[in-house]
Amino acid sequence: MNRLTTKSVKGTAKALRGPTHHVVVVGAGLAGLSATLHLLGAGRQVTVVERADEPGGRAGLLDRGGYRVDTGPTVLTMPDLVEEAFAAVGHSMAGRLDLVPLHPAYRARFADGSALDVHTEGTAMEEEIARFAGAREAVGYRRLRAWLEQLYREGRKILHRYATWHLLRRLRLRSRGKETTYYQLQVARQHLRAGVYLLNWLEGQNLTLPTCRQADLERWTTSDDARLRQEAGHFVRWTSSQKITRDLSFPAVRWNGPTQPMDDEARWDTARRLLHDDTLKPEDRLAGLLLLLYAQWPATISRLTVGHIEETDTGARIHLGPVPVELPAPVAELALQQVTVRRCHATLARTNSPWLFPGGQPGRPISAWAMGERLRKLGIRLAEARSTALFQLATELPAAVLARTLGIDITVAVKWQRAAAGDWAAYAAEVSRRTSTRQRG
Ligand SMILES: Cc1cc2nc3c(=O)[nH]c(=O)nc-3n(C[C@H](O)[C@H](O)[C@H](O)COP(=O)(O)OP(=O)(O)OC[C@H]3O[C@@H](n4cnc5c(N)ncnc54)[C@H](O)[C@@H]3O)c2cc1C
Repeated sequence: MNRLTTKSVKGTAKALRGPTHHVVVVGAGLAGLSATLHLLGAGRQVTVVERADEPGGRAGLLDRGGYRVDTGPTVLTMPDLVEEAFAAVGHSMAGRLDLVPLHPAYRARFADGSALDVHTEGTAMEEEIARFAGAREAVGYRRLRAWLEQLYREGRKILHRYATWHLLRRLRLRSRGKETTYYQLQVARQHLRAGVYLLNWLEGQNLTLPTCRQADLERWTTSDDARLRQEAGHFVRWTSSQKITRDLSFPAVRWNGPTQPMDDEARWDTARRLLHDDTLKPEDRLAGLLLLLYAQWPATISRLTVGHIEETDTGARIHLGPVPVELPAPVAELALQQVTVRRCHATLARTNSPWLFPGGQPGRPISAWAMGERLRKLGIRLAEARSTALFQLATELPAAVLARTLGIDITVAVKWQRAAAGDWAAYAAEVSRRTSTRQRG
């Protein structure tokens, strides 16, 4: 193999060309040492360079006057990772390290003289928390611990890999350095939870991912207690690509555009109600119209600021993507009204909150969830309404215009356009044919 895959600064994978049989690792901290072991295990020759006198980096040891003091890690949270590194070169952790369990694992001392003993064992830790912070905190600790145990029980290593190397990396790539949206995070969480549910079910059946066969998987997907079935498909496909499972198939759902589009007439009825019904709150009307007419998710609407609305000689524009959209008169009025209300409120309350839809907490916008709830109360089914709006817009506008004006990714815009059978490519070809025929004539 003549390629090494590394991670660039932004977290995207990049392949190095050229010979890789000899690798130089800079730094003999835990990361450098474990990389070295994995590279050796993969048959590379490795040279490690370290500027300090000894290896270890922050996991160091001071030897002063007969006293040995660790300078870094106190708790070995995931010994399996250390085990993995030793296993890569055919050694074992037990053969190389003497790990001595300590009770308590360590003692945290605070400036006011109080101390908290940190125990590995659950009951001991709960008792210590009850002593230190009261019964309520101890109950919270027990809940957290139970959740973590469920999360990491059987396939904790696999889930850790899936979360770190797949979900997180994908999130980073998709957000391209921008803040991750609430929805992106929710989707990643659901994928992770789906993996947990499947693993827990397998455990109940005395199965593991490697021993799970197609028939077992189908038993789960058709059972009543299968939760987040569709999302689990994502996890299963990843485990196959990683060769953790064998012969399991979980066909990807083909993207066929909106599966449950809202009736277009119903969409216009709701839009008309929002445009004219003065008994509804103006901010709710505006938010609803941004979803129904401009296919904006509640997460995006909730993060709009007064700066996104631009007053013009004839009305107002909204900046949803790089190119602003001219708002039709009644929507422009609602938008400008909302900006005025926000500015007055900011002056009265002496706040500088820029949010168009402020939340309960000072200086914060309304959460995506709360925005979604408000829209649902107006009778809007969020996903269906957005699908229908995007579907309609995709039949009317070229993908590039959709992407630039609505602030959606171009690849998504192209997919929507295809789904809507938007004939823009054919139309453009037709126009150019007509133009060239005219020119020739
Ligand atoms: C007080 C403290 C407590 C901690 N407690 C825990 C804990 O309980 N559990 C836990 O999991 N983690 C803990 N950590 C974190 C853990 O110690 C570090 O995450 C881990 O040791 C970092 O390893 P690393 O290899 O990434 O970096 P480092 O340990 O920083 O190693 C980098 C190495 O590269 C060398 N180097 C840098 N530049 C060059 C160069 N140009 N040329 C040659 N060599 C170079 C450095 O000298 C160093 O040896 C703790 C850290 C500290 C400081």
